[in-house]
Amino acid sequence: MKGLVFADAHMHSSPKGLGAAAIAEKFINKGGWFAALVMLPPWHYNIDVEPTFEMYTRAIKQHLDECKKARETGLRVSCLAGFHPAEVDRLISMGLSPEDTLNLGLKVIEYVADLCKRGLLDGIGEVGRQHYKTMPERVAIASTITTRALELARDYDCIIHLHLENAGPATVDTMTKLVELVSIPRTNILFHHASIRVAEYATRGGYWATIAGKKELMRKAFERMSGTSIMIESDYIDDPKRPCVSSCPWEIIDRQLELLKEGLVDEETLHNVNIDNIVKFYRIEPP
Ligand SMILES: [Zn+2]
Ligand SMILES: [Zn+2]
Repeated sequence: MKGLVFADAHMHSSPKGLGAAAIAEKFINKGGWFAALVMLPPWHYNIDVEPTFEMYTRAIKQHLDECKKARETGLRVSCLAGFHPAEVDRLISMGLSPEDTLNLGLKVIEYVADLCKRGLLDGIGEVGRQHYKTMPERVAIASTITTRALELARDYDCIIHLHLENAGPATVDTMTKLVELVSIPRTNILFHHASIRVAEYATRGGYWATIAGKKELMRKAFERMSGTSIMIESDYIDDPKRPCVSSCPWEIIDRQLELLKEGLVDEETLHNVNIDNIVKFYRIEPP
């Protein structure tokens, strides 16, 4: 379709994979104009140090470089970094104590928030809770880091990507309690990789949500949440061993065009999801 452009509201790139420049070029060729590029855990970068704060500062530097390379292709990019809940589990299994893991996570979040305050990063993400079975103390650590991230996002008016379990209203309500205690505007907060149920409940509550760019999920989302604050994400992880494991960014474009062709979504909805909502949440100029 002429005039339609597409956004990926949450994707990753790794210098060990295709890398941001190649991904951006492929995405632009299909009609992509914007991507939120979110930092991966530090082991996805070219670093060979012990799990320390330095490992993170080096990874963040490489991630900033990935964002720069993506922008150089002409793609509009929002660059986010955080402390993924899975990093808690990985660091502990690498031998770090739970207490050191918590302190490291908090330090990383302070560092990331400072970069956001200075305009070097565009937001904080991912932070949140594990979506799989793990030890309760590890969920507690991830939650504590998330609370601190919310406070800092409030202080510096940063946007934030939450990675959470998809447990319907409970997932949203537990965040709402925190959001109210911290008093951060809900419009700064995105529930990433949300199920239809979580996305419906979250957007009704004044939050943003991203839906994974699978055809059936998007069909449902467009049917039930047209005109609301949803966006589409690939959650591409750029791991050569697991190509397109969630989706490849260019596939989410193909699938949206298929839905359009099949009459299961209209151009207005695609415009809303891929442009209007992106412009609003990421605070950028339209294409
Ligand atoms: Zn995630
Ligand atoms: Zn992700």
